[in-house]
Amino acid sequence: MSDLLSIEDALAAVLGRVVPLEAEDVAVGDAAGRILAEPARAAVDLPPFPSSAMDGFAVRAEDAPGELSVVARVAAGRPVDRALRAGEAIAIATGGVVPEGADAVVPVENVEEVGDRVRIAADVSKKDNIRRRGGDVEAGETVLGAGTRLGPAQVGALAAAGLATVACARRPRAAVLATGTELRPPGAALGPGEIYESNTFTLAAQLAHAGAVVERLAGVEDDEAATRDALERGLAGDVLVTSGGVSVGPHDLVRSALVDLGAEEVFWRVAVRPGKPVAFAVGGRTLIFGLPGNPVSSLVGFELFVRPALLALQGASDPRPPFRPARLGRSVRRSVARDALLRGRSRVQDGAVVVDPVVGQESHMIVRAAEADCLVLVPRGDGDLPEGATVDCLAL
Ligand code: AMP
Ligand code: MG
Repeated sequence: MSDLLSIEDALAAVLGRVVPLEAEDVAVGDAAGRILAEPARAAVDLPPFPSSAMDGFAVRAEDAPGELSVVARVAAGRPVDRALRAGEAIAIATGGVVPEGADAVVPVENVEEVGDRVRIAADVSKKDNIRRRGGDVEAGETVLGAGTRLGPAQVGALAAAGLATVACARRPRAAVLATGTELRPPGAALGPGEIYESNTFTLAAQLAHAGAVVERLAGVEDDEAATRDALERGLAGDVLVTSGGVSVGPHDLVRSALVDLGAEEVFWRVAVRPGKPVAFAVGGRTLIFGLPGNPVSSLVGFELFVRPALLALQGASDPRPPFRPARLGRSVRRSVARDALLRGRSRVQDGAVVVDPVVGQESHMIVRAAEADCLVLVPRGDGDLPEGATVDCLAL
């Protein structure tokens, strides 16, 4: 057994410190990726009128089979102000207003047109091919609830229901900072012992995907004053994510610098692999995540703790990582002390999702991790987890 904080307890500690951000009005065209702060209610019935589902002829069902005379034509957006009477048909386009008196639409492919008459051979039932007014949603009904994250279908639904703007939590402002004397920006020449800085690129992309407005701070060397100054700048936002410098070495300065700046450390170290030395602190209203520098530790730590915090800040109804079950494609060794998050690639076999851990699971192997499409949770325990075991997976 381990006395480290479990992933669940650490996540609960993070979510317990979240104070949701205030709401603002957002134009529906800019609302993709945002989270509704209030239920969005339809401005109109949808459809707003009984409309035709087909190109065809509006008729009275009781007149079919039979031959009817075509007395008018309705295009979408061009209703006719004439009611349909017995023995009549009105030509109608998809989306056209079904005229008064008609109770069915016969598709054009089911009639024979002869001059200005149509012959209908088969029976027709009332309501055939008519979209009922309010059949999708009625005016005043909830289109989407508070806490819903808006994707493509959701912004379309809001627009269709007549909403030009919706109340959403404002976007969290997040800063990201790399620490490490050995780090150089991609494109620069590497000196002895240097590597390219990659974590702020990963983290900035993750932050943006989680809805944040991101500022990448200039990276700092492992120097106390420089680290403190950079952290102080990061404390202006809602969220500060740092990479590196949270382990136990003499050059790991982030935690002590945060304490110097008056931040409260909520936890340090979680029973997770990779990413054990993750730190979480709060400074004023800023949530601070000190992620370990190994690129895969940083990637994983973000998904476990930072993304949920960003979603909770924005009022998401369920900010926790959405793990889904899958079958393990090959047996894996468990860790006794820590839950592992393996990088996996999923495939479908016999109708079920099977996930194969990628080759190269060490925490510095970001290129191997880039092959993965999910994280596979392997709970701590003795011995192997066998092929075919059910595991929880988190899409990347
Ligand atoms: P640290 O957590 O600072 O001890 O760093 C652990 C490992 O991650 C070291 O090998 C660092 O060189 C590497 N590392 C730290 N920060 C970054 C970064 N921003 N990008 C890529 N690798 C990093
Ligand atoms: Mg370091």
